[in-house]
Amino acid sequence: MSAVTRKTFDEVMVPNYAPAAFIPVSGLGSRLTDQDGKEYIDFACGIAVTSLGHRHPELTAVLHDQVDHLWHLSNTHTNEPALRLARRLTETTFAERVFFCNSGAEANEAALKLARKYAVDRNPEKTQIVSCKQSFHGRTLFTVSVGGQPKYTEGFGPLPGNLAHIQFNDIAAAEATIHWGTAAVIVEPVQGEGGITPASKAYLQKLRELCDKHGALLIFDEVQIGVGRSGSLFSYMEYGVTPDILTSAKALGNGLPIGAMLTTKEIAATFVVGTHGSTYGGNPLVCAVADKVIEIVSRPETLAGVKQRHHWLVDGLKAINQKHHVFTDIRGQGLLIGAELIPALHGKAKDVLNAAAKHGLVTLVAGTNVVRFAPSLVIPVADLNEGLKRFELAVAEIAAQVTQTA
Ligand SMILES: *Cc1c(COP(=O)(O)O)cnc(C)c1O
Repeated sequence: MSAVTRKTFDEVMVPNYAPAAFIPVSGLGSRLTDQDGKEYIDFACGIAVTSLGHRHPELTAVLHDQVDHLWHLSNTHTNEPALRLARRLTETTFAERVFFCNSGAEANEAALKLARKYAVDRNPEKTQIVSCKQSFHGRTLFTVSVGGQPKYTEGFGPLPGNLAHIQFNDIAAAEATIHWGTAAVIVEPVQGEGGITPASKAYLQKLRELCDKHGALLIFDEVQIGVGRSGSLFSYMEYGVTPDILTSAKALGNGLPIGAMLTTKEIAATFVVGTHGSTYGGNPLVCAVADKVIEIVSRPETLAGVKQRHHWLVDGLKAINQKHHVFTDIRGQGLLIGAELIPALHGKAKDVLNAAAKHGLVTLVAGTNVVRFAPSLVIPVADLNEGLKRFELAVAEIAAQVTQTA
């Protein structure tokens, strides 16, 4: 067999992605190495997934141990790692019951189905689901329909019904839309794909109040911001607003596929035997690692480290911007940071990402105007500083383009 390259992608893969020109082949901590031996600092973690870095020694040890015991049972039997993980999640959050699946979309699919059924069991006309414009909740047909980005549903209709999309952070819109017929409101405490936009505390408090008033369930989609990235174990703890259902995925398995839906005992009772399920959900291999992830992230020094690194990263980006004037806003929570480009550079976020990669730094974008940073929660200070240095080289190139065209 001949070697595989980026060109192979176009020859054998469905063309729904546009991956980078280089192919990383190994990773350790916050460093990646590609096929040519070039090294990169990782400010992306996949998409906020490998939050404890690549091949974290404690996770590697747990995975090796579980590999030698048991990989899979399906739901005809329960298993120890899933029970330990569920117990840890109920001990560390508001939740009393946990459902495991394999991705963020599946966690939201479960949350939306649960909320619909919980409402409809009480009143057959209580079916409305309210979500926010610019939101992202996954790629199943239900979750893209609930998501607030029409480009992701184009061509896939007919779509599930009785969905309402309101402006994010707009209290008046929430008051005008949420009513007796609302089954659930779903919101990302910090919008990720939509541009790294934190909700205001007043907004989340108002959603809580309106849901209580109208008997609707409040769902927090913490697939991206959860598991320590906010600076708390979950972002709802930063806000002090507690949802009825919380979804998690991405960083929960540090790269192994897992999703989870957390809720109360009373709401969970709606999912009686046979109402919902997943073949792989809660498999021992992934749950053993996720249990260790939650244990490590819950340590006070891990969460304090996120807050410290937030300041280092934001201060570093601000210093770069003071020299090169390419961003209008630098925002986010914990280690999910977005830097919005000035109008003259709108549409160029991917160019910044490509320039950064050239200088040996992996970043992300959120839309076409925002550069997104999601480094490891435990990134060494030296790597953080080196990453910022490389990012400045990229920014200087992009800034020079503005000067040339001005
Ligand atoms: C990534 C993401 C999802 C979807 O997760 P998948 O694992 O890709 O299905 C859902 N919600 C939010 C907020 C996300 O960032």
